[in-house]
Amino acid sequence: MSNELYSLTQLEQTEDFVRRHIGPSESEMAEMLSFIGADSLDDLMKQTVPAGIRLTEALKVGESVTESQALADLKQVAQKNTINRSFIGMGYTDTLTPNVILRNVLENPGWYTAYTPYQPEIAQGRLEALLNFQQLTIDLTGLELASASLLDEATAAAEAMGLAKRVSKNKKANAYFVADDVHPQTLDVIKTRADMFGFDVIVGQETEAAEHDVFGALLQYPGTSGEVKDLTATIEALHNNKAIVAVAADIMSLVLLKSPGEMGADVVLGSAQRFGVPMGYGGPHAAFFATRDAYKRSLPGRIIGVSKDTRGRPALRMALQTREQHIRREKANSNICTAQVLLANMASFYAVYHGPEGLKTIASRINRFADLLATALVRHGYALKHSSWFDTITVLVDDKPSLVKVAAEKGMNLRSDLDDAVGITFDETTTRKDVMDLIDLLCGPEHGFTIELLDAEVTTQGSTSLPADLVRTTPILTHEVFNSYHSETEMLRYIKSLEDKDLALNHSMISLGSCTMKLNATAEMIPVTWPEFGKLHPFAPVEQAKGYQEMIEELSDWLIDITGYDAMSMQPNSGAQGEYAGLIAIKRYHESCGEGHRNVCLIPSSAHGTNPASAQMVSLKVVVVDCDKDGNVDLADLRKKAEEVADNLSCAMITYPSTHGVYEETVKEICDIVHQYGGQVYMDGANMNAQVGVTSPGLIGSDVSHLNLHKTFCIPHGGGGPGMGPIGVKKHLEPFLPNHQVIDTANTSQGNGAVSAAPWGSASILPISYMYIRMMGSEGLKKATEVAMLNANYVANKLDGHYEVLYRGRNNRVAHECIIDLRPLKEASGVTEMDVAKRLNDYGFHAPTMSFPVAGTLMIEPTESEAKAELDRFIEAMIGIREEIAKVESGDWDATDNPLHNAPHTLDDICDNDWSRSYDRKLAAYPVEAVARNKFWPSVNRIDDVYGDRNLVCSCPDMDSYREE
Ligand SMILES: *Cc1c(COP(=O)(O)O)cnc(C)c1O
Repeated sequence: MSNELYSLTQLEQTEDFVRRHIGPSESEMAEMLSFIGADSLDDLMKQTVPAGIRLTEALKVGESVTESQALADLKQVAQKNTINRSFIGMGYTDTLTPNVILRNVLENPGWYTAYTPYQPEIAQGRLEALLNFQQLTIDLTGLELASASLLDEATAAAEAMGLAKRVSKNKKANAYFVADDVHPQTLDVIKTRADMFGFDVIVGQETEAAEHDVFGALLQYPGTSGEVKDLTATIEALHNNKAIVAVAADIMSLVLLKSPGEMGADVVLGSAQRFGVPMGYGGPHAAFFATRDAYKRSLPGRIIGVSKDTRGRPALRMALQTREQHIRREKANSNICTAQVLLANMASFYAVYHGPEGLKTIASRINRFADLLATALVRHGYALKHSSWFDTITVLVDDKPSLVKVAAEKGMNLRSDLDDAVGITFDETTTRKDVMDLIDLLCGPEHGFTIELLDAEVTTQGSTSLPADLVRTTPILTHEVFNSYHSETEMLRYIKSLEDKDLALNHSMISLGSCTMKLNATAEMIPVTWPEFGKLHPFAPVEQAKGYQEMIEELSDWLIDITGYDAMSMQPNSGAQGEYAGLIAIKRYHESCGEGHRNVCLIPSSAHGTNPASAQMVSLKVVVVDCDKDGNVDLADLRKKAEEVADNLSCAMITYPSTHGVYEETVKEICDIVHQYGGQVYMDGANMNAQVGVTSPGLIGSDVSHLNLHKTFCIPHGGGGPGMGPIGVKKHLEPFLPNHQVIDTANTSQGNGAVSAAPWGSASILPISYMYIRMMGSEGLKKATEVAMLNANYVANKLDGHYEVLYRGRNNRVAHECIIDLRPLKEASGVTEMDVAKRLNDYGFHAPTMSFPVAGTLMIEPTESEAKAELDRFIEAMIGIREEIAKVESGDWDATDNPLHNAPHTLDDICDNDWSRSYDRKLAAYPVEAVARNKFWPSVNRIDDVYGDRNLVCSCPDMDSYREE
């Protein structure tokens, strides 16, 4: 080669993204193919994917583009967005993300590539950040119990309605009251949810709430147009009628205001966006949710609880509902799975960084600026709609349209959807100049006001914008964690200390079956924090969002091509929300055909727990279809059950390849049977990583699917969110896609209602999937699917003989994941799947998916991004563990005095002066050589689940409890 000149094409390939995204090199692939007995990737596809559903044409997303080119092109698109100063409010405000959080959390793979903390011993860092989020929620809302984030304020409000229905003693009531000063998008989402549950929604003045016979009510504090009023009397009156009262509250205002909990509210919820999370044209942001201790079993979403480990030390874990949809399925409280962990962490770090005093300063400054503007406007002769406010004033104006237009021309967005009035909301980015620009706009150039004079006037006269009896008197954030890290050095080290406790993709592979933990490439992440994407308000006029619209449209077109559908909706902000939106479309479609009576949903027993939970949310009756011994949907049972329900069949929800990791040969027949009885097919898209470029839901015959962009299309898991769950539909379902009350999302009928607070969901993470598709191109995407299957089959065949691979499809192939059965081993040795999972931590790995879809098994999904060397390390670990199990089985090792039972091992174990175990320390911590080179130390020993649920503590323990041993 030395004298040979490379061709230009070869030279250009040094920047080839495809070979960076895909783990194994070409020669490694050849080796692996030969090991599993396939001639080529194409041969592997032929052996594995049923012929009848193989795509014959290439995808049409274009050629792959280099990282630098894709970034440059997307930057140009992003720059088509117009970034005005936003005074729109409505639950979204600009914020200053502390740079120490921006770089070390949001832009740090140690945080954004982590998985949901189901393995708490290697997730204490993010669990602590989430516990801080709960403490912050408890302090600000004045309630007893908080959860660790929901998807957005509007869906949190809808969840509060669900909770009210479950716990209200007014059992016969079927109506829910919503105050008329609730944000319009919240009302929109509630109406959709109520419609599906069959509840009536009554909208009226807050003071009249108790005049209605309702099981619950939602109030807003401060009101959407800014008013701050005491809700105590209304709450009491509602309580007298046995109604459950939820209050949607602004998190920053709560720093200064009496909490809704003190007013008697049963639930307090809201968005934590303005605690340092960019608006991002709608998301992602975390919602907070707090309630009374008595309702803890009805709480939607995750709760982080304090328990203890085997050394008796406090240790954190997900409590109660850890896998609640999996256990309770259609009886689950909600379908929430992926939520907004990364963003909740950011908000909690924001509170840690600023502390109670810092937050008070920020909130007071915001309020003061509002006072100054209000003073000037009133003096100039304007009438304000309210005499109280925190950050929002609503000004009555004569010619609203021209005022809003002129403001926009001057780079200022005002809220424009109020009758004869404009809304102006301030935030922590507001400056003196902003206030003066608004005064210039509203009062003309000759007004004579100055900030200094206005400020002196407010100082002399005092401010009554926060009513005296509503000023907070209870302390907030007194816990040590909120009073310790106020210098950047201290903060940096706190963040790092938590990061070090967590195993993320930047340490080793996370082979989570069904969750597709693939590479989240840096080039994909970079655009997320561009201000062109970050600083746009979701309700900014669409003409200011040209860049977003172009990006979203192009991404939609690509996803339509990839899925074989005809239309997409980007609104659902998680997979489960996609299921919900898709089922709504099905339901509305049946209604449009005069078949609204169709109310049965067939779901195979192997389905993910969110499927039945979502079906229940649209009032469908779930009928379970059996699987046969090979893990396939039992066709005879499907046909029988479809026939039984006949005219009442609404749909079937299937997953493909199945959650058993197999390409069922009969999938087209399944679709045909469902269609034959007039039902629709919902295909769960979580396993799209085994379909892209090879087959497609549309081709197979399904009618609607969600895509988990946070699985297949590279959005990182963020430790349990964000996510995006857009849905694709066939033409006949397009008119039934979600719409949005505030911003018309086009192509769908008005009146469909919204499923998320923002019209395009968590829009600011869409650039990740956009970049991925652009850099992979049609061929690269297909190759990713093929290599994902190669990697899975390689792992399956390597483990075969050591473990039983539970299900295989044609030619003995698995799809993109495989299930290994630990039940026979447990039977023989007493070693549980939990022991294996924890022992994997000692070997430096996160456990695969445990006990889903089959109890007592592990589901391994390596993805295409893992190189052969990493797969081999994982295989070595699994085989090593198998040999350890054998020693327990044979009696060489005692049933409890063995490294499996005691896993994971911590440094405290190894440093313990009285180590008295039958195996040595080296075997405990460095079971194989590869571990010693790159050891990850679990920060706590195995955590006691039962203790944690029996003694539920979901606030920060005081420091003394850490000191006692
Ligand atoms: C992940 C997953 C879901 C739920 O998606 P979320 O984004 O977590 O709500 C649904 N079905 C399957 C098979 C999944 O793997």
